[in-house]
Amino acid sequence: MGDELVYGIFGRSLEDVLDYYGYRSPPRVSSKLRGWRYRERPVEPEVSGRLPVSAIASDFCPTARDVYVRYVEGLEAPASLPMVSGTLYHNTLEAVVTRAKRMIYEGITPDLDIAKALADCADDAVEETMVDKQGLIDEARVAAEDLERVQKNMLRLWRFEAGQIAAAVAQVLSRSPYIGADSLVAHAIPLTMEHRVDGSRVGLSKQLSIDAFQAVRTMVMEMKTGKEREYHGLTLAGYALAFESAFPRQVNFGMLAYVRFPEDRSVPLVVRRVYPIDDGLRLRFLRARDRKLAIVGRRRDPELPPRCPSACGYFRICRG
Ligand code: SF4
Repeated sequence: MGDELVYGIFGRSLEDVLDYYGYRSPPRVSSKLRGWRYRERPVEPEVSGRLPVSAIASDFCPTARDVYVRYVEGLEAPASLPMVSGTLYHNTLEAVVTRAKRMIYEGITPDLDIAKALADCADDAVEETMVDKQGLIDEARVAAEDLERVQKNMLRLWRFEAGQIAAAVAQVLSRSPYIGADSLVAHAIPLTMEHRVDGSRVGLSKQLSIDAFQAVRTMVMEMKTGKEREYHGLTLAGYALAFESAFPRQVNFGMLAYVRFPEDRSVPLVVRRVYPIDDGLRLRFLRARDRKLAIVGRRRDPELPPRCPSACGYFRICRG
């Protein structure tokens, strides 16, 4: 039954996805670069401390002054439309997956029609998600027309994911007459959303949150709703190292799902990128981690680069 697993935004079965991208075997990974070697360099941090994976992976600021401003001076970048919309899309995805699982746990009855039930509650669920984040929306001063567009996209995302989940549930049910609720969830919706991992052994936050995690064939997955950036792959290496440090299980692959909302489509456009979490990616992440932990640990201002991207959230703080 495993090959029919469906992952919605994150694609069809893991085997299908890896096969599509030409990965037929796991990458070679040096035993010294597994997360469970956190008591030895280079996995052991050079300077003690903890940072979020995103702060380490990001190379948006050429000198990493963003890390200094946020974690030494304690100043936060002001809320922005991309930040708000990204949060709302992530919360929508988590909400639809959680709601579908709850429906199954409430009972597999002859009347169980997940597609209809999820469609019926879409508007209310999206509204609830927005109410929940009203503070952030107000802080970012999101214009009414932008908010309307984001809400429409949240509904598209909900309906798309709901359709995928409903198809997976129907497929599993059609083959397994005696399946119980827990097994149905495991087969049809095999993802843990916002999976918490303690990354403190490898210099990362204690409460890391991975967008989606597949436990059967350990894989970390992230949904991105902004521009595609080269450094995003590094986040996967960070989560893999954190997971391996907390549970001694290999994480060899990660996936980024870039979600867009073209005006001429009723469904989101999803572009998936699979990354083998190999030695190169691990070392790049570990070097960035050591460099940024040193900035915080030694309270060393890395100074301004000659030019700053105007889209940087800290632009006013650094250059105001
Ligand atoms: S404004 Fe410039 S120096 Fe400050 S964090 Fe952004 S890119 Fe870095």
